Amino acid sequence: MTHMHVAGSIHADVTTPAPVWLTRPEDVNALTPKLWSSTVHREDDGVITVGGVRLTDLAEVVGTPAYVLDEADFRERARAWRDAFAGWTVYYAGKSFLCGTVAAWVGEEGLSLDVASLGELTVALRAGFDPARIALHGNNKSETELRLALERGVGRIIVDSSDEITRLERLCAELDTTARVMVRVTTGVEAHTHEYIATAHEDQKFGFSITGGQALVGLFRCHHSPRLDLLGIHSHIGSQIFDTNGFEVAARRTLKLFSQFREATGIELAELDLGGGFGIAYTKEDDPSSPEQLAAGLREIVAHECRGFGLSVPELSIEPGRAIVGPAGLALYRVGTVKPVDVGGGLNRRYLSVDGGMSDNIRPALYAAEYSASLASRASAAEPVVSRVVGLHCEGGDILVRDEFLPADVAIGDLLAVPASGAYSRSMASNYNHTPRPPVVAVRDGQIRTLLRRETLDDLLALDAGLAENEV
Ligand SMILES: *Cc1c(COP(=O)(O)O)cnc(C)c1O
Repeated sequence: MTHMHVAGSIHADVTTPAPVWLTRPEDVNALTPKLWSSTVHREDDGVITVGGVRLTDLAEVVGTPAYVLDEADFRERARAWRDAFAGWTVYYAGKSFLCGTVAAWVGEEGLSLDVASLGELTVALRAGFDPARIALHGNNKSETELRLALERGVGRIIVDSSDEITRLERLCAELDTTARVMVRVTTGVEAHTHEYIATAHEDQKFGFSITGGQALVGLFRCHHSPRLDLLGIHSHIGSQIFDTNGFEVAARRTLKLFSQFREATGIELAELDLGGGFGIAYTKEDDPSSPEQLAAGLREIVAHECRGFGLSVPELSIEPGRAIVGPAGLALYRVGTVKPVDVGGGLNRRYLSVDGGMSDNIRPALYAAEYSASLASRASAAEPVVSRVVGLHCEGGDILVRDEFLPADVAIGDLLAVPASGAYSRSMASNYNHTPRPPVVAVRDGQIRTLLRRETLDDLLALDAGLAENEV
């Protein structure tokens, strides 16, 4: 397969070449299974369905743009992580996407839940999630947040600074209670996608540095505090990680800390949390490991490092977010404008503008994240051409899918589906340009269920004290 295929003559223009990693599909209508949730397929008439719902019907009922969550797929993935990591505790990372119904699914599938703000904690509690199975994160937790966690008996608080320890001790004294805590440490491992960096020291806001010695000091403080019940150590190394190399270094450095703590106190800490960050396929290029492969790898790594330090294997936990909800969700957009743009050298780029953009998926703009897209409302017999899917916002960087082969006849009114949009899309969505945020609907067995309704302009304008009601 050629990487630099020039897609041929379209409207007498030559389109831009594909980037090196993007191969020209043999069949532009084919759906690559690893990108899509498990119930997705293209019907005989060409329409993509998910959860037994045709996306054309869905667009009629709920409008576009919309986030569509495949409930069966979400539940399968949650179970796959739970089963592969049997004996460990699997915390679903709520920041990837959380709402009342998703919190319920997480609980029903036997997972625990990690939250990272007062808002996420409130959603979890109001959804009736068992507080004992909630972990609270954050590098600047407010008093309100900590107080709520203590009053409601949240299972563990991951302390991130010595200021937080002080705050927590004071609140515990005031409420006459104790807090179960883990100490978040920074291991000097930073992992993103296919690469990780292991450094001797780190320069970022999270946790207690191991190499700086703060980690051990934080552990001692918690250990000696009559108000704190020290469970163990927490480490989270990054996001969209594809292999276990970074986790191996992090496990070695955290377990060394276990051993230093034992030397000083005679006590072996009970728990180690290795965090989240397990990668998913956003494009055909990505090849994530299965939960089974990761579980086998991480079990082996932890066992090996524990043997090395003469430690017994602690209770273990992980926090996948994206790997559960990411592939379960797609974003659905309608094309409104098709523009061939002359990019010089006789080349053209095909810009497809859709009715959403960086307000509903900031990741391409924020991290240069790559996505893929497929024509969802029909199949096409047209030539695949390299296209760019862009939003409606006033930023040149408002790109949803930088490069994708889409049929040359994609036209106004067509629906485009962007797979792997379940994580960090709605949860990071903004109201930029006063754009109301799209709804999240779940599909299952041919039924559509609203999880979060579409925001309306009235929702937005209700906050504005300077506007008269019902004007315009
Ligand atoms: C973001 C985060 C996670 C989840 O990361 P994913 O990439 O969604 O798996 C887990 N734990 C902590 C502490 C995080 O900050």
